[in-house]
Amino acid sequence: MKIWMNGTLIDEEQCCISVLSHGLHYGTSAFEGIRAYDSGSDVVIFRMMDHLARLRRSAAALGVSVRYSDEDLRDAITTVVRENGLRCAYIRPLISIGPGSLSLNLSSADNQPVVVIAAWDWSTYFSADNQGISLITGVGRRVSSQAQLRQAKVSGAYANAYVASAAAREKGADEALLLDESGFLAEASAANIFLVKNGILMTPTCRAALAGITRDTIMTLANHLGYDVQEGDLTVKSLHEADEVFLTGTACQVTPVTNVDGRTVNGGNVGDVTRQLQCSYLKAVRSSSSFVSNVCVGTDSFRAA
Ligand code: PMP
Repeated sequence: MKIWMNGTLIDEEQCCISVLSHGLHYGTSAFEGIRAYDSGSDVVIFRMMDHLARLRRSAAALGVSVRYSDEDLRDAITTVVRENGLRCAYIRPLISIGPGSLSLNLSSADNQPVVVIAAWDWSTYFSADNQGISLITGVGRRVSSQAQLRQAKVSGAYANAYVASAAAREKGADEALLLDESGFLAEASAANIFLVKNGILMTPTCRAALAGITRDTIMTLANHLGYDVQEGDLTVKSLHEADEVFLTGTACQVTPVTNVDGRTVNGGNVGDVTRQLQCSYLKAVRSSSSFVSNVCVGTDSFRAA
Protein backbone atom coordinates (compact mmCIF):
# COMPACT_ATOMS: atom_id res chain seq x y z
CA MET A 1 0.00 0.00 0.00
CA LYS A 2 1.24 3.49 -0.83
CA ILE A 3 0.64 6.11 1.83
CA TRP A 4 0.91 9.88 1.56
CA MET A 5 2.93 11.14 4.49
CA ASN A 6 3.82 14.80 5.00
CA GLY A 7 3.63 15.55 1.29
CA THR A 8 5.29 12.42 -0.12
CA LEU A 9 3.84 9.17 -1.39
CA ILE A 10 5.75 6.26 0.12
CA ASP A 11 5.40 2.53 0.75
CA GLU A 12 3.56 1.65 3.95
CA GLU A 13 6.65 -0.21 5.23
CA GLN A 14 8.66 2.99 4.97
CA CYS A 15 6.21 5.12 6.93
CA CYS A 16 7.86 5.54 10.28
CA ILE A 17 6.68 7.46 13.28
CA SER A 18 8.36 7.58 16.66
CA VAL A 19 6.97 5.43 19.48
CA LEU A 20 7.31 8.60 21.55
CA SER A 21 4.73 10.46 19.46
CA HIS A 22 2.20 12.50 21.40
CA GLY A 23 -0.66 11.12 19.30
CA LEU A 24 0.24 7.53 20.16
CA HIS A 25 0.36 8.19 23.90
CA TYR A 26 -2.61 10.51 24.33
CA GLY A 27 -4.82 9.94 21.28
CA THR A 28 -4.14 13.49 20.14
CA SER A 29 -4.89 12.80 16.49
CA ALA A 30 -7.71 14.05 14.30
CA PHE A 31 -8.92 11.83 11.51
CA GLU A 32 -11.60 11.29 8.89
CA GLY A 33 -13.19 8.37 7.13
CA ILE A 34 -14.12 9.10 3.52
CA ARG A 35 -15.36 6.80 0.76
CA ALA A 36 -14.65 6.74 -2.95
CA TYR A 37 -17.16 5.03 -5.23
CA ASP A 38 -16.97 3.74 -8.77
CA SER A 39 -19.76 5.34 -10.78
CA GLY A 40 -18.87 3.36 -13.88
CA SER A 41 -17.34 6.30 -15.72
CA ASP A 42 -15.77 8.14 -12.79
CA VAL A 43 -14.34 7.63 -9.37
CA VAL A 44 -16.51 9.74 -7.08
CA ILE A 45 -15.27 10.81 -3.67
CA PHE A 46 -18.36 11.37 -1.57
CA ARG A 47 -18.60 14.84 0.02
CA MET A 48 -14.83 15.04 0.20
CA MET A 49 -14.67 18.78 0.94
CA ASP A 50 -17.17 18.39 3.81
CA HIS A 51 -14.95 15.68 5.29
CA LEU A 52 -11.87 17.88 4.90
CA ALA A 53 -13.67 20.76 6.61
CA ARG A 54 -14.51 18.49 9.57
CA LEU A 55 -10.91 17.22 9.65
CA ARG A 56 -9.68 20.80 9.94
CA ARG A 57 -12.21 21.55 12.70
CA SER A 58 -11.18 18.40 14.61
CA ALA A 59 -7.50 19.32 14.30
CA ALA A 60 -8.31 22.87 15.45
CA ALA A 61 -10.07 21.42 18.52
CA LEU A 62 -6.69 19.89 19.39
CA GLY A 63 -4.97 23.22 18.76
CA VAL A 64 -3.35 21.93 15.58
CA SER A 65 -3.38 24.02 12.44
CA VAL A 66 -2.96 22.01 9.27
CA ARG A 67 -0.16 23.25 7.06
CA TYR A 68 -1.81 21.88 3.89
CA SER A 69 -4.76 23.57 2.18
CA ASP A 70 -7.96 21.66 1.45
CA GLU A 71 -6.92 21.66 -2.19
CA ASP A 72 -3.54 20.10 -1.27
CA LEU A 73 -5.33 17.43 0.74
CA ARG A 74 -7.88 16.84 -2.02
CA ASP A 75 -5.06 16.30 -4.52
CA ALA A 76 -3.23 14.05 -2.07
CA ILE A 77 -6.34 11.91 -1.53
CA THR A 78 -6.89 11.61 -5.26
CA THR A 79 -3.27 10.56 -5.71
CA VAL A 80 -3.49 7.93 -2.96
CA VAL A 81 -6.65 6.39 -4.44
CA ARG A 82 -5.20 6.40 -7.94
CA GLU A 83 -1.69 5.18 -7.07
CA ASN A 84 -3.11 2.27 -5.09
CA GLY A 85 -5.18 1.28 -8.13
CA LEU A 86 -8.47 1.72 -6.24
CA ARG A 87 -11.83 2.72 -7.66
CA CYS A 88 -13.87 1.95 -4.55
CA ALA A 89 -12.03 2.84 -1.38
CA TYR A 90 -12.18 3.78 2.24
CA ILE A 91 -9.86 6.74 2.74
CA ARG A 92 -8.28 7.61 6.07
CA PRO A 93 -6.54 10.98 6.50
CA LEU A 94 -5.00 11.46 9.95
CA ILE A 95 -3.27 14.43 11.55
CA SER A 96 -1.38 13.46 14.65
CA ILE A 97 0.68 15.45 17.12
CA GLY A 98 4.11 14.03 16.54
CA PRO A 99 7.24 13.33 18.56
CA GLY A 100 8.98 15.96 20.68
CA SER A 101 7.60 16.65 24.11
CA LEU A 102 5.36 14.08 25.78
CA SER A 103 4.02 16.71 28.12
CA LEU A 104 0.32 17.54 28.17
CA ASN A 105 1.47 21.04 28.90
CA LEU A 106 2.45 21.48 25.28
CA SER A 107 2.40 24.45 22.99
CA SER A 108 1.24 23.41 19.52
CA ALA A 109 4.51 24.71 18.06
CA ASP A 110 6.55 22.16 20.06
CA ASN A 111 5.62 19.01 18.16
CA GLN A 112 5.27 19.05 14.40
CA PRO A 113 2.02 17.24 13.43
CA VAL A 114 2.32 14.25 11.14
CA VAL A 115 -0.17 14.12 8.28
CA VAL A 116 -0.88 10.78 6.66
CA ILE A 117 -3.45 9.60 4.11
CA ALA A 118 -4.10 5.92 3.44
CA ALA A 119 -6.77 4.19 1.35
CA TRP A 120 -7.87 0.60 1.02
CA ASP A 121 -10.72 -1.52 -0.17
CA TRP A 122 -13.24 -1.85 2.69
CA SER A 123 -16.43 -2.95 1.03
CA THR A 124 -18.62 -3.62 4.07
CA TYR A 125 -18.10 -2.63 7.67
CA PHE A 126 -20.29 -5.23 9.36
CA SER A 127 -20.33 -8.73 7.95
CA ALA A 128 -24.15 -8.64 7.81
CA ASP A 129 -24.27 -5.03 6.55
CA ASN A 130 -27.11 -5.62 4.18
CA GLN A 131 -29.30 -8.20 5.88
CA GLY A 132 -29.39 -6.37 9.20
CA ILE A 133 -27.27 -6.35 12.30
CA SER A 134 -27.99 -6.66 16.02
CA LEU A 135 -27.56 -3.75 18.44
CA ILE A 136 -27.29 -3.76 22.18
CA THR A 137 -27.73 -0.95 24.69
CA GLY A 138 -26.39 -0.83 28.23
CA VAL A 139 -22.76 -1.49 27.40
CA GLY A 140 -21.49 2.07 27.34
CA ARG A 141 -22.04 5.78 27.52
CA ARG A 142 -20.96 8.26 24.89
CA VAL A 143 -18.33 10.87 25.81
CA SER A 144 -20.29 13.56 27.63
CA SER A 145 -22.10 16.22 25.66
CA GLN A 146 -20.38 18.69 28.01
CA ALA A 147 -16.89 17.55 26.91
CA GLN A 148 -14.84 19.94 24.79
CA LEU A 149 -14.14 17.42 22.07
CA ARG A 150 -17.68 16.09 21.62
CA GLN A 151 -17.91 17.20 17.96
CA ALA A 152 -14.31 16.43 17.02
CA LYS A 153 -13.25 13.20 15.35
CA VAL A 154 -10.32 12.72 17.66
CA SER A 155 -8.61 9.36 18.17
CA GLY A 156 -8.65 9.41 21.99
CA ALA A 157 -12.48 9.37 22.07
CA TYR A 158 -12.54 6.12 20.16
CA ALA A 159 -11.03 4.14 23.05
CA ASN A 160 -14.40 4.58 24.82
CA ALA A 161 -16.31 3.60 21.67
CA TYR A 162 -14.03 0.62 21.07
CA VAL A 163 -14.56 -0.77 24.56
CA ALA A 164 -18.35 -0.45 24.21
CA SER A 165 -18.27 -2.13 20.81
CA ALA A 166 -16.12 -4.98 22.14
CA ALA A 167 -18.51 -5.42 25.10
CA ALA A 168 -21.42 -5.68 22.63
CA ARG A 169 -19.67 -8.44 20.71
CA GLU A 170 -18.86 -10.25 23.92
CA LYS A 171 -22.60 -10.33 24.59
CA GLY A 172 -23.27 -11.73 21.12
CA ALA A 173 -24.43 -8.50 19.41
CA ASP A 174 -22.83 -6.87 16.38
CA GLU A 175 -22.64 -3.35 17.74
CA ALA A 176 -23.19 -1.15 20.78
CA LEU A 177 -25.62 1.71 20.98
CA LEU A 178 -24.18 4.23 23.41
CA LEU A 179 -26.41 6.39 25.56
CA ASP A 180 -25.77 9.98 26.55
CA GLU A 181 -25.25 11.08 30.16
CA SER A 182 -29.03 11.41 30.66
CA GLY A 183 -29.74 7.94 29.33
CA PHE A 184 -31.07 9.05 25.91
CA LEU A 185 -29.87 7.40 22.70
CA ALA A 186 -26.61 8.92 21.45
CA GLU A 187 -24.95 6.92 18.67
CA ALA A 188 -23.19 3.67 17.85
CA SER A 189 -19.42 3.38 18.18
CA ALA A 190 -18.85 5.01 14.79
CA ALA A 191 -22.30 5.62 13.33
CA ASN A 192 -25.47 7.63 13.87
CA ILE A 193 -28.83 5.99 14.49
CA PHE A 194 -32.27 6.49 12.95
CA LEU A 195 -35.60 5.05 14.07
CA VAL A 196 -38.71 4.85 11.92
CA LYS A 197 -42.09 4.98 13.67
CA ASN A 198 -45.39 5.28 11.78
CA GLY A 199 -43.52 6.52 8.70
CA ILE A 200 -41.65 9.29 10.59
CA LEU A 201 -37.88 9.26 10.88
CA MET A 202 -36.35 10.11 14.24
CA THR A 203 -32.73 10.61 15.17
CA PRO A 204 -30.96 11.91 18.30
CA THR A 205 -29.81 15.52 18.21
CA CYS A 206 -26.09 16.16 17.74
CA ARG A 207 -25.74 17.20 21.36
CA ALA A 208 -24.27 13.78 22.14
CA ALA A 209 -23.59 12.45 18.67
CA LEU A 210 -21.21 13.33 15.89
CA ALA A 211 -22.87 15.46 13.22
CA GLY A 212 -22.43 12.70 10.67
CA ILE A 213 -22.14 13.57 7.01
CA THR A 214 -24.12 10.42 6.16
CA ARG A 215 -26.75 11.45 8.74
CA ASP A 216 -27.06 14.83 7.07
CA THR A 217 -27.32 13.21 3.62
CA ILE A 218 -30.03 10.79 4.82
CA MET A 219 -32.04 13.64 6.34
CA THR A 220 -31.91 15.52 3.03
CA LEU A 221 -32.80 12.42 1.00
CA ALA A 222 -35.64 11.54 3.37
CA ASN A 223 -37.07 15.05 3.05
CA HIS A 224 -36.83 14.79 -0.74
CA LEU A 225 -38.73 11.51 -0.55
CA GLY A 226 -41.47 13.18 1.51
CA TYR A 227 -40.64 11.82 4.96
CA ASP A 228 -40.85 13.90 8.08
CA VAL A 229 -37.54 13.78 9.99
CA GLN A 230 -37.46 14.72 13.67
CA GLU A 231 -34.42 15.27 15.88
CA GLY A 232 -34.87 14.87 19.61
CA ASP A 233 -34.18 13.07 22.85
CA LEU A 234 -35.00 9.44 22.16
CA THR A 235 -35.43 6.81 24.83
CA VAL A 236 -34.39 3.17 24.85
CA LYS A 237 -38.13 2.40 24.95
CA SER A 238 -38.63 4.24 21.64
CA LEU A 239 -35.79 2.18 20.18
CA HIS A 240 -37.47 -1.03 21.36
CA GLU A 241 -40.79 0.08 19.90
CA ALA A 242 -39.49 1.35 16.55
CA ASP A 243 -40.89 -0.09 13.31
CA GLU A 244 -37.45 0.12 11.71
CA VAL A 245 -33.96 1.01 12.87
CA PHE A 246 -30.82 1.73 10.87
CA LEU A 247 -27.32 3.10 11.34
CA THR A 248 -25.59 5.63 9.11
CA GLY A 249 -21.92 6.36 8.67
CA THR A 250 -19.26 6.59 6.01
CA ALA A 251 -17.96 3.11 6.77
CA CYS A 252 -21.27 1.32 7.40
CA GLN A 253 -23.23 3.47 4.89
CA VAL A 254 -26.90 2.66 5.62
CA THR A 255 -26.93 -0.49 7.75
CA PRO A 256 -30.29 -1.97 8.72
CA VAL A 257 -30.73 -3.08 12.33
CA THR A 258 -33.01 -6.10 12.70
CA ASN A 259 -32.45 -6.91 16.35
CA VAL A 260 -32.18 -4.64 19.39
CA ASP A 261 -31.43 -5.99 22.86
CA GLY A 262 -32.49 -9.47 21.74
CA ARG A 263 -35.86 -8.30 20.31
CA THR A 264 -36.46 -8.50 16.57
CA VAL A 265 -37.22 -5.27 14.71
CA ASN A 266 -39.83 -5.54 11.95
CA GLY A 267 -40.01 -9.31 12.44
CA GLY A 268 -36.27 -9.54 11.79
CA ASN A 269 -36.63 -8.18 8.24
CA VAL A 270 -35.18 -5.04 6.70
CA GLY A 271 -37.99 -2.46 6.52
CA ASP A 272 -39.21 -0.72 3.38
CA VAL A 273 -38.20 2.79 4.48
CA THR A 274 -34.69 1.60 5.32
CA ARG A 275 -34.34 -0.13 1.94
CA GLN A 276 -35.65 2.93 0.09
CA LEU A 277 -33.20 5.25 1.86
CA GLN A 278 -30.35 2.80 1.41
CA CYS A 279 -31.02 2.69 -2.35
CA SER A 280 -31.25 6.50 -2.57
CA TYR A 281 -28.04 6.86 -0.60
CA LEU A 282 -26.12 4.41 -2.76
CA LYS A 283 -27.26 6.40 -5.81
CA ALA A 284 -26.35 9.76 -4.25
CA VAL A 285 -22.84 8.71 -3.31
CA ARG A 286 -22.06 7.97 -6.95
CA SER A 287 -23.74 11.04 -8.42
CA SER A 288 -22.39 14.44 -9.25
CA SER A 289 -25.56 16.30 -8.26
CA SER A 290 -24.88 19.57 -6.51
CA PHE A 291 -26.56 18.78 -3.19
CA VAL A 292 -24.05 16.11 -2.29
CA SER A 293 -21.11 18.12 -3.71
CA ASN A 294 -19.08 15.01 -4.44
CA VAL A 295 -15.67 15.34 -5.98
CA CYS A 296 -15.63 13.46 -9.28
CA VAL A 297 -12.34 12.23 -10.53
CA GLY A 298 -12.55 11.57 -14.26
CA THR A 299 -11.49 8.14 -15.46
CA ASP A 300 -9.03 9.73 -17.82
CA SER A 301 -6.89 10.94 -14.99
CA PHE A 302 -6.90 7.41 -13.62
CA ARG A 303 -6.02 5.94 -16.99
CA ALA A 304 -3.19 8.40 -17.34
CA ALA A 305 -1.66 7.18 -14.11
N1 PMP B 1 -20.52 8.96 15.01
C1 PMP B 1 -19.24 8.63 15.19
C2 PMP B 1 -18.70 8.55 16.58
C3 PMP B 1 -18.41 8.35 14.10
O1 PMP B 1 -17.13 8.01 14.28
C4 PMP B 1 -18.95 8.41 12.80
C5 PMP B 1 -18.07 8.09 11.61
N2 PMP B 1 -17.38 9.23 11.18
C6 PMP B 1 -20.29 8.79 12.65
C7 PMP B 1 -21.06 9.04 13.78
C8 PMP B 1 -20.88 8.95 11.28
O2 PMP B 1 -20.29 10.06 10.64
P1 PMP B 1 -20.16 10.15 9.09
O3 PMP B 1 -21.49 9.87 8.53
O4 PMP B 1 -19.71 11.54 8.84
O5 PMP B 1 -19.15 9.13 8.67
